[in-house]
Amino acid sequence: MVRDRFAPSPTGNVHVGSLRTALYNYLYAKKMDGKFLLRLEDTDQTRLEQGAVDNLLDALNMTGVIPDEGLIKENDRVIEKGQHGPYIQSQRLDIYKDYIELLLDQGQAYYCFCTKERLEAVRTSQKEKGETPKYDGKCRELSQAEIAANLEAGLPYTIRLKLPENHVIVFDDLVRGVIEMNTNDLDDQVLLKADGFPTYHMAVVVDDHLMAITHVIRGEEWLPSTPKHVYLYECLGWEAPKFVHLPNILNDDRKKLSKRQGDVSVGDFLAKGYLPQALVNFLALLGWSPENEQEIFSMEELIQAFDLSRINKSGAVFDRAKLNWMNAHYIKELPLEELVDHLTPFLVAAGLIKQEEVPQKQDWLAKIAEILRDRIEYFAQAPQQLDMIFKNDYVIENEEALTLLREESSKRLYEALIRKIEATDVLDAARGKAILKEIQKEEKIKGKMLFMPSRIMITGEMHGPDLTLIMDVLGKDEVLNRIKSAAS
Ligand code: GLU
Repeated sequence: MVRDRFAPSPTGNVHVGSLRTALYNYLYAKKMDGKFLLRLEDTDQTRLEQGAVDNLLDALNMTGVIPDEGLIKENDRVIEKGQHGPYIQSQRLDIYKDYIELLLDQGQAYYCFCTKERLEAVRTSQKEKGETPKYDGKCRELSQAEIAANLEAGLPYTIRLKLPENHVIVFDDLVRGVIEMNTNDLDDQVLLKADGFPTYHMAVVVDDHLMAITHVIRGEEWLPSTPKHVYLYECLGWEAPKFVHLPNILNDDRKKLSKRQGDVSVGDFLAKGYLPQALVNFLALLGWSPENEQEIFSMEELIQAFDLSRINKSGAVFDRAKLNWMNAHYIKELPLEELVDHLTPFLVAAGLIKQEEVPQKQDWLAKIAEILRDRIEYFAQAPQQLDMIFKNDYVIENEEALTLLREESSKRLYEALIRKIEATDVLDAARGKAILKEIQKEEKIKGKMLFMPSRIMITGEMHGPDLTLIMDVLGKDEVLNRIKSAAS
């Protein structure tokens, strides 16, 4: 059975690249009727951030990329589910120690007592000589007696992997094909740090094996580490999983996606009012493509269509315009009630409606939602769009607008609008439409000469959402006031 995993380190916000990794693992596991699990890689105790795990699991729950096993958040509680736990690396320290012992016994690992200062000095001198920095192997051949004496003296130590010289490590990446690496080009990797925690490299191998992972699907940045992992599998006598390295996500300038060019965390996108289903759809196509030209996919459709063999090798540009287009598409398709629910917090935050008025003003919100449906790409744009409707202190300065208002027909239009609106009880969209029709007939004003001056008087703008909907949400009194003040 396919078993794959998402193995994030809990460091703050969830990057869209991490969500993509989780998503691909999820899609592949679902497609293959396998299991997708979440393991927390928290062996770097200097990088831990409060609240990061909650953030992470919330992002997965919201986007529907939900693990079958491992760490899961259910009913607001973080739980562990499955037979292979604990799923938090900091709770597995004894397990790693056993395998480190084994590697020491087999002569495949060694104690290193070099101080930080010495390592730094070695690195600096190598760099000065133009060499790639690498541990110089000083502690590789320490005698048992030396080791015992150093331990006795309480010297801090790390355990390093003892790579054989000139040994070729070969593995097959399902996206990139066969990759070979000579150990002469690799460093004697630290496996156990001075603080007693394993490094990522040690822990990831032990856990992927013990958790029966069949496919390691992760970002391209881990590709250089994979030979070390493959060698560790060899040392421990384990079969390595299959590897799949996902292409980098890039900015427009083809450099790695960074915050400098805009949002990169899932939380930021959700907070701006991107829909989780749009984000998922967009990320799915960032490094993978279906056989046909289809672009809009539900999660179910993604599961059906997903295929490891169609993952690209080259970097995928994070095209924000495309994400906006896709999100706009999903907004257009939302059932009205959901559209209102998504919009409401943004309108409340912008002071356009008070939270306590929300239950009574559902009809009004529904009208607003229909006005905005085709006009926003993400919900944070809503207040600005509505500004056009609700700000009533506008001054009409545009020459073309002023010229239109000065037309003789606009004077008649003005009189007729006031007369008819005053005579109506409720100015809803239907009534607004009827009034404009009547004026067209009675005053023989039509097309642009009817709609533009009306719009300018009511909104101060020459373009915008359907005018009758605007009349509806503003209501009779406000519309009258605006028309009257436009003339003065
Ligand atoms: N803990 C690593 C990360 O933060 C996981 C790499 C892997 O999937 O092996 O991305």
